[in-house]
Amino acid sequence: MKPARVFRCVDCGELESVLINGYTVGDRLLEDVLFVGTVEKNKVAVVIQPECATYFATLNQKKWLAVVKRYANRPMADDFICPKCEEGGGVVSLMLPRSYYLEAAKKAIEKNDDVVYDVASGKGQIVGNVKHMPWFREAVADELETR
Ligand SMILES: [Zn+2]
Repeated sequence: MKPARVFRCVDCGELESVLINGYTVGDRLLEDVLFVGTVEKNKVAVVIQPECATYFATLNQKKWLAVVKRYANRPMADDFICPKCEEGGGVVSLMLPRSYYLEAAKKAIEKNDDVVYDVASGKGQIVGNVKHMPWFREAVADELETR
């Protein structure tokens, strides 16, 4: 069974929560209005950021929360904002934990899967020489993440 997905920033790693810019769904009505996304039962749960709650209370909150939630849960959503580096747009996505891919890489290397040969040849290496090296396991995990 696969583990629950987590938010991951390419720079900061796994995150407890992310920010979602309301502008993407509400245009000017929700410009600069931020929502906080967390993972609950493998889905993105959304609440208004406390700083924006006063303004948000003047709108149809139920409707907009549903819209933002639907948007945040669309397949392949990757435009969350990282609260640590404040980067967004393709940097933060909801995906399986890195540990899952590292474990899968370890198994692939033990079993000499095709992906192991693909990664080694892509790096100009021979599998037998690099299969025990930590960087090679990371490289195989990187490749598995993109498949
Ligand atoms: Zn970050």
